[in-house]
Amino acid sequence: MPKVVSRSAVSSSTDAQPTASSTAALRVYYCICGEFVLVIDKNLASLPKRQTDGATVIRSQDSDAGKAGVFKLNATLKEPVLVERQGGHERQHRLHCPRCDLQIGYQSTPPPVKSGPFVYILKGALGQIQGQVPPDAFADENLVRT
Ligand SMILES: [Zn+2]
Repeated sequence: MPKVVSRSAVSSSTDAQPTASSTAALRVYYCICGEFVLVIDKNLASLPKRQTDGATVIRSQDSDAGKAGVFKLNATLKEPVLVERQGGHERQHRLHCPRCDLQIGYQSTPPPVKSGPFVYILKGALGQIQGQVPPDAFADENLVRT
């Protein structure tokens, strides 16, 4: 059912930011296999990155710190894994490409997608041009892992 948005209701909100045509600003991101994975109203490159693993942080729920990003994720959630971090472990519910099964991101909460405050997109996992490997996909390959 189409959602009817009242103009007056929108402008009465004091923190509402002026937006240009939202559909025009939507960006589409693809997995390396060419599968459409993410559509979002922001450029991934402009979003904050996690210090721990360089993953792109997408806010998926409104909070005092900011509004949730407008995005749709086409991904499959898998069993959670524990990742070692400095000072403890971190539970990750991993998001996989529905076609080639490559991991493209994760979230810290159980399904459904976006149930937690953030969704993380792995560095180099997605590109804006279908069928082309993102330029940063192999950026860390020559680092020595210890
Ligand atoms: Zn894929």
